[in-house]
Amino acid sequence: MKPQKLPLKHILSVRCPMCGAPPNERCKLSSGHPSFQTHFDRDAAAAKVSAPENFSQATMRVVWEGFRGIFQKG
Ligand SMILES: [Zn+2]
Repeated sequence: MKPQKLPLKHILSVRCPMCGAPPNERCKLSSGHPSFQTHFDRDAAAAKVSAPENFSQATMRVVWEGFRGIFQKG
C-alpha cells in the first residue's frame, strides 16, 4: 500500500528536516539551488502534522483551551 501523496502546500507548511528549508520555501539541493522535488523526510514530517481535514478539530481544541483558561481565571 502506497502512502497517500500529500498536497505540496501541506508538505511545504513544515520545515524540511533534510535540508533545513523553512516553511513555505522549497527544498534546497546540496548546491544550494531550490529543488523542484521535496525531500522524503519532509513528506513524512508533513504527514505527522495535522492534515487540512483535521484543522478545524485542532482549532476547536485551541478555542476550548482558551475558554477554559478564561473561566478558571474568572
Ligand atoms: Zn528538503
